Amino acid sequence: MKGKSMYSMINSLSQAGQFSKTGSPYPPKIKDSILKFIFSLLLAFLSLTLTASSLYASDQQAPAGFTFAVTRLQRTTLRVGPSTQYDRLAELPKGLNVKVISTLGKWSKIYLSKNFSGWIKTDSLKLLPASASFTTVVLKRIKITRELHDIRMDVYESSPGLMIPYEWRHPKILWLTFYNAKSAMEGIYYNPKDPVIEDVQVRQKSSYTVLMKIDLAHLYGFKMIQKTPHQLLIKFQLPPPFLLKRGKLNLRTSSYSPLKGWRICLDPGHGGKDTGAVGPTGLEEKTVTLRTAKILGKMLQNNGALVFYTRTTDTSLTNPNGPAAAELQARVNVAKKHHANLFISIHFNSKPTLAKARKARGTFVYYYQPQSLNFAWDICRNVENETLEPKYGVVFKSLYVVRELDFPAVLVESCYISNPVTEAELRHYSYLKKIAYGIYRGILQYVKSR
Ligand SMILES: [Zn+2]
Repeated sequence: MKGKSMYSMINSLSQAGQFSKTGSPYPPKIKDSILKFIFSLLLAFLSLTLTASSLYASDQQAPAGFTFAVTRLQRTTLRVGPSTQYDRLAELPKGLNVKVISTLGKWSKIYLSKNFSGWIKTDSLKLLPASASFTTVVLKRIKITRELHDIRMDVYESSPGLMIPYEWRHPKILWLTFYNAKSAMEGIYYNPKDPVIEDVQVRQKSSYTVLMKIDLAHLYGFKMIQKTPHQLLIKFQLPPPFLLKRGKLNLRTSSYSPLKGWRICLDPGHGGKDTGAVGPTGLEEKTVTLRTAKILGKMLQNNGALVFYTRTTDTSLTNPNGPAAAELQARVNVAKKHHANLFISIHFNSKPTLAKARKARGTFVYYYQPQSLNFAWDICRNVENETLEPKYGVVFKSLYVVRELDFPAVLVESCYISNPVTEAELRHYSYLKKIAYGIYRGILQYVKSR
């Protein structure tokens, strides 16, 4: 990771919750209280000019003075505030009816229920005529089927629903909230060959809010797709096939090759024109990440794992002058293409100012999806044990490569390449081997605890 982003990360760490082990997917909402104040003034002004009566009577009614619109992109990110600096609340599917209650610059505030609204880019919406109406989603049926790599859970709806924010209150319970929805369940059809979903409960929480609780035997990851306007699809990853015996989870692993059958994707950070952070005497992050990844890859292979690298030479995966997101997506695609079970992105840390950079120490492991939290802790503890870096720990952060994967995926900042003492150590194979061994031990611990 480069200095600047690390710096902003440290800033956001000072707010409560980022270091939390409970793994709520919603970190502190707004970075800057002054900005927040200015926005609230602006919003107050806007709502005054929009309408005189902006009180809602119930969940169903949005403030008066709204316009109807429909989402027009395959995926639109709903955020806490009107810029990409704000946290993500949910991903909205195409064809979703929303009410626009205000706009600010290129952003629109949309309303989903009395307690739930957020901001999306205005150009992701198509405005509807004033005669349009806001339909309530009726949840009708749930069907669970087993597929090759996952368990498929189809939720059938009466009208275009919405991809709802999810919540974990326990590592094995997934809660989904459907806004502007009613439950009229005709049936929940389970599948006898499903080793993942244990129980599904649907209940009307308030007039227009439905809660769905899904109990899981274990969690390897999931993703939600609005398959058609009437069908929300949730896909739960199956555990690697060798962990299943007669359809049930079998936790025993061979002591000779404990990683047999695991498909592990290693992502050496940066590469080519993108050097990553540079140490005080010129050691480049991209070089150390690749060396460490190769050492780690050998350890994993020797213990039975199948290892895939996003890169094995000093290159970028995409055009070096292209957008950073394309490069990161290319790395995500490598993991997906090989049906990886685990993903580890390897980086070395830095700080923007020299004085801080020279003193900085510590290991950070980043995760985003809830299924990656335990994996992140296992790796963090073991790397610290090997390198004796000070304990910093696990950080929830929306980093591209860990966010876009629906199986355990983490980004490891093993130590600070900007620290001259650490940089000198990083030039030695023996030190890289310690880091690689720490990550390897972490993977092993995670695999054994499944
Ligand atoms: Zn990096």
